[in-house]
Amino acid sequence: MTMKSNRRISVKLERVSKSYNGTRVLNEVSLQIEVGEFYVIMGPNGSGKSTLLSIIAGTNPLDSGHVEIHGHNLGKDDSDAKCVIGYVPQDNFCSSFLTGRENLEYFAGLLGFSKLQVRERIERVLEMMQLLPHADKRVANYSGGMRKKLEVATALLGDAKVLLLDEPSTGLDPNVRKEFLSLLREISEEGTTILLVTHIGEDAESASKVGFMVDGRIIIEDSPENLKEMACLESKVLVDALPRSQELLEILASLDEDCIVAENGESLEVFTHSPMELIPKIAHSLQNAGFKLNGIETRPPSLEDVFYHLTEVSIRGEAT
Ligand code: ADP
Repeated sequence: MTMKSNRRISVKLERVSKSYNGTRVLNEVSLQIEVGEFYVIMGPNGSGKSTLLSIIAGTNPLDSGHVEIHGHNLGKDDSDAKCVIGYVPQDNFCSSFLTGRENLEYFAGLLGFSKLQVRERIERVLEMMQLLPHADKRVANYSGGMRKKLEVATALLGDAKVLLLDEPSTGLDPNVRKEFLSLLREISEEGTTILLVTHIGEDAESASKVGFMVDGRIIIEDSPENLKEMACLESKVLVDALPRSQELLEILASLDEDCIVAENGESLEVFTHSPMELIPKIAHSLQNAGFKLNGIETRPPSLEDVFYHLTEVSIRGEAT
């Protein structure tokens, strides 16, 4: 056993790099995550998130750099490091033919606990993930959210101190996603460190810290609140007007010299400091220019907006 070098640091990465077939996917990533933190790495598909997570989980070797989990060095005290990690990769790994409890019994068996310990631990993780009422149903009949909770439950069986989650909310509908994320937040508040990687902005809203990843580097990190402040995006006005044209964009951009106009699917987004002054101006100018205004509404900026404005890279339009 290695002595903990710093009690408060749960996951520490120093200049971690990784290439596949000569292409660099991780570029000297350094990171420190404190015990009990809910840290979310947000980035577009292909930016290296899964690779980073699998390296921390010890299932993928790094090329250079250093990883320490609760004071245990990966590459030196691997079995100690792996003992404190619970890893939930992207692909489903629980059997649909078994019940939730049977799946947990199978994984607990692999961990080598006694029968009594297995029973106690299974009850505990089922309760933590609010799955007790569904424990004896076959996983084939679980919803997507229940299946994901079961996978997190299996990762928690061995008293994980660090939970690594790869895109866990993909495919969950917004309400289920919200409930799932607040459950994760509770687990982190009870002292388990959570590192979650995602390309979905909502996943990062409940985080204590968010790192933005682009091309194998974490280029900025802070709390969601501070990141929003940093991006200086106070308010967003969504404009649904036809026909879509360059002239429409130019009119919107001309109404407020500090505003930023962006296209997002059906709507145009105008980021502004003064939405209430801007809205009547938009309605008036578009009508005068002969555009059909179908709708106009204000929304707070999302972390996806913040990501785009701070990195100039869009994480939108990715498959969810
Ligand atoms: P993300 O999780 O952000 O989508 P990944 O870590 O999965 O990113 O992938 C980063 C890049 O590395 C992608 O271009 C991907 O195609 C490539 N990649 C991932 N795993 C492998 C592998 N085992 N062999 C070769 N290339 C890979």
